[in-house]
Amino acid sequence: MIDLQAVTALADNYIWIAPAPGNHRVLIVDPGDAEPARAWLREHGAQPAAILLTHHHGDHVGGAAELARAYGAPVYGPATERIGAVDHPVGGGARLEIDGFGTIEVLDVPGHTAGHIAYHGDGALFCGDALFAGGCGRVFEGTAEQMHASLQRLAGLPGETRVCCGHEYTVKNLEFAARVEPGNERLARRLEHARALRQQGRPTVPSTLEEERATNPFLRTDSAEVQAAAERRAGQPLADAAAVFATLRRWKDQGG
Ligand SMILES: [Zn+2]
Repeated sequence: MIDLQAVTALADNYIWIAPAPGNHRVLIVDPGDAEPARAWLREHGAQPAAILLTHHHGDHVGGAAELARAYGAPVYGPATERIGAVDHPVGGGARLEIDGFGTIEVLDVPGHTAGHIAYHGDGALFCGDALFAGGCGRVFEGTAEQMHASLQRLAGLPGETRVCCGHEYTVKNLEFAARVEPGNERLARRLEHARALRQQGRPTVPSTLEEERATNPFLRTDSAEVQAAAERRAGQPLADAAAVFATLRRWKDQGG
């Protein structure tokens, strides 16, 4: 996966396209809409080797059935969610062997949805709406504790891992992060850089896990400054990192 492509779709979604080195086969991740993916495939003379889905929301799966039909590609997706297009249901611990792509490991990351999964292989992480650049997904179906544990699992992957998330929310996420951690200089620089990229109409993704661990408050629940900010917001001491996470998530949901 040397040359990851973030193809824009719908309002602010990214469909990830990962070419296999040396041939014209690609992985397509979370095609919320078939047309932008088809246009990319036509333009590059490429064929999908497989379609990977992270969770059941329509803006991530809406184009999967049409792409599968058009190209005869297998569709992988979370075994515990009902997604019509999925013909290869998978869960955490599964290891996918897709020709040309090495081994892709499936991770359970519940919280945004109950069955949300992520895919990790060849230095890339496709994490849908679990981890975002500078932030994380809303907790719709799971608990804050589950979401915190899921993000901690992702944070444990190698620092150079490229984080391929499902939406362009980076500037808003980093603006919130800067309110939580105004003393984090690297975060301030990252926000400035993300704003400049967006002004040029360029994507802010992929980021790296190392960058996320240094600047994303939802992965920094053990930092003293993040803890202190969450406790000020909560108006009381917080018992553990999961409580810090829950406070941050609520704070962000309330408009940051
Ligand atoms: Zn979602």
